[in-house]
This record gives sequence, structure tokens and C-alpha cells, in this order.
Amino acid sequence: MDTIIRMEHVSKSYQLGLKSIQALKDLDFTAERGEFVAVMGRSGSGKSTFLKIAGTLEDADAGKVWIGEKEIQTLSRQERCEMRQGSIGFVFQKYQLLPEYTIWDNVCMPLYIAHQNPDRDYIQQILKRAGLWERRMDYPEELSGGEQQRVAIARAIAVNPEIIYFDEPTSALDPELTVEVLAVMKRLAQEGMTMLVVTHEMNFARTVSNRVIFMEKGVVVEQGSSKEFFEHPKETRTKEFLRIFQE
Ligand code: ADP
Ligand code: MG
Repeated sequence: MDTIIRMEHVSKSYQLGLKSIQALKDLDFTAERGEFVAVMGRSGSGKSTFLKIAGTLEDADAGKVWIGEKEIQTLSRQERCEMRQGSIGFVFQKYQLLPEYTIWDNVCMPLYIAHQNPDRDYIQQILKRAGLWERRMDYPEELSGGEQQRVAIARAIAVNPEIIYFDEPTSALDPELTVEVLAVMKRLAQEGMTMLVVTHEMNFARTVSNRVIFMEKGVVVEQGSSKEFFEHPKETRTKEFLRIFQE
């Protein structure tokens, strides 16, 4: 096994005025290289918090997180920044493209920021794979939501990351645009990209993911291979969730 993410006893609370909300409670998790792990659960169950901590965007209050061999808490700001720029990709619900730049420049932006010269052949290949080659000189506002999200995926791939984190990448899209984004993600998965994906797309998770973790109130209620999870859920709460969302 070649572990890429390891989390042990991770907890996280947010302070809202006088109230403390525990978003994650003593969570353990590991992901192996090449795995596609789908993260599911109702709104407010802690999925985004989990993804942000697993992706070094936020710190846990307690517990430890490793990416590869490196324990995140022991890294300097500079080392953390280099890790984020070089080996991690993120795709969020909102694409966060830069409106003043062409699609080509948006995709190359992480490289520009890291003071690297884009390998033109590599960028060309990425744009073609995302079905965006013809759009490379256009600006974000000229693209559909689905195309913009595919630009965000291409941008995440541009640094040749070891893992990509997706937080509800299709939740803001119409169904027909969702299909084209999921197709790009499926292809990435088939090429062996390690992916941690928060999604409500049941069919997609069932057919493409290797493993599912199901969260509720900051804990992992159930996890298993996607076949096990969808065909033979064990926990009552998982069964209820599947019944509601699969209708
Ligand atoms: P999910 O992604 O499953 O909807 P989140 O991880 O976003 O769940 O949130 C988990 C809990 O933490 C929720 O109760 C949410 O309101 C709370 N929370 C998340 N982020 C913040 C924040 N920045 N400030 C205060 N509360 C937060
Ligand atoms: Mg969320």
C-alpha cells in the first residue's frame, strides 16, 4: 500500500459567537495513491471541513495529518505553500476563474504563481482532455458553467498534482452540464489520479469511486468499497440517506 493521506484523531470546532460548533470529532482516515474516495453525507455533516483539513487549507484543533511522508503541522509556511502549489489540486463548487485572463492563462495560473514556465505540450494535452482546446483564447464569461468547471479541473491538473480534492464540483450546474464535468472526472480517475470527492451524484459515486465514506455530525458513520456501501449499507442512517437521495 502507498498511503497518500493519513489523518488520526482529527477534531475541529468553529466558534460562532458564544457557540462552539464541532465540525469534526476524532476522525481517522487514510487514502491510498490511485484511490477515488467519495465523501457523502447531508449538508452540515462536516464534509467540507474534512476536505479542507485533509488538503492543508485549514488546521485541525487536535490530531495529526500526513500527506505522503510529511506531517502537515511540522511544516513551515513556506513548505506548506510549496506542497499546495506543487502536489495538490483543488476544485470547488465555484470555479473561481480570473475574468481578465484567457482560458489558457487561467489554466497556467498556478504555474505562473509558482514562477514556473508552463510546458506548452502538457497544457495543450490537458486542455484537449478537458474538451477545451478550441476555447483556449476565450475568456471565462464566454463559457458555460460546465466549461468553466472543466477549466477549473484543467487548472488543478496543470501542476501535475499527486492528489486532487473536489468539493461538490457539480452542485451549481444544470444536469446536462454536470454530465460533461463528470465525464472529465471519470477519465481522470481511469488514468489513476488520486481523488477525494465530496459529491451528491449517487450514480457517479457508485460507478466511479473505489470507496465511500459517509459522514454525519462530524464523524464517519460508515465506510466501505462503493459496491458494499451502495448494495449492502450496514448502518440505519446510511440506509435512510441512500433511500432519500436515490429517489
Ligand atoms: P458540509 O460540507 O458537510 O455541509 P461543513 O464542513 O461545511 O459541512 O460544516 C460542518 C459544520 O461546521 C456545520 O455546522 C457548519 O455550519 C459549521 N461550519 C463550517 N465552517 C464554518 C465556519 N467557517 N464558521 C463557523 N461554522 C462553520
Ligand atoms: Mg460542504
